Amino acid sequence: MTSRRTRERLVQRLREQNISSQAILDVMRDTPRHIFIDEALSHRAYEDTALPIGFNQTISQPYIVAKMTEVLLAAGPLKQVLEIGTGSGYQTAVLAQLVESVYSVERIKPLQVRARERFRQMGLRNIHLQHTDGGMGWPTMAPFDGIIVTAAPDQVPEELLNQLAIGGRLVIPVGDSQQQLQLITRETEERYETRILENVKFVPLLSGTVR
Ligand code: SAH
Repeated sequence: MTSRRTRERLVQRLREQNISSQAILDVMRDTPRHIFIDEALSHRAYEDTALPIGFNQTISQPYIVAKMTEVLLAAGPLKQVLEIGTGSGYQTAVLAQLVESVYSVERIKPLQVRARERFRQMGLRNIHLQHTDGGMGWPTMAPFDGIIVTAAPDQVPEELLNQLAIGGRLVIPVGDSQQQLQLITRETEERYETRILENVKFVPLLSGTVR
């Protein structure tokens, strides 16, 4: 189930869906998605599908992880990236292999604890975690040259826009029953450009924290 062939098949599928960055495809092939999933479901780890991770949350579909990563990195390499919604830590681990540092926040403590253990297993040392409501971002570490949000708010949180560096990119699903993936680029101190990329389905961005 975790054989090289199974993983190559996933990468082939991503290629067919127009993920073209070889660096990202390599990372998707080499990241052990099965360790981010409960053992009972791990035989499905290399299917291109979202799967439950407990607490009513899901690990994102590999295509969406690859797509958001590609959009985030399309303008060149990034140093500081903020992620809202660590969840299983799968998207975090993919990013951490492609950028200098990842700052990731999660509102559900037990998910964060499990994710931290997986990063340790993988030997990833450039990931910083915080248990907090990500609607506030991570003000003390701002500005970020990339921000990725893996749960959908109804509207783009103002705080995240404020924490983008000039030239920085925010990739975020927005909406309720109908969600769209948006790329927002901060062009100047005051000016932001928004592009709608595609329809998506994410769990909602919720406020407050769970111990
Ligand atoms: N990238 C993750 C996606 C997990 S689902 C993965 O592939 O596993 C989205 C995650 O966002 C959930 O873990 C959920 O608890 C978290 N989340 C939702 N609202 C949040 C908020 N306001 N602050 C931080 N995390 C939040």
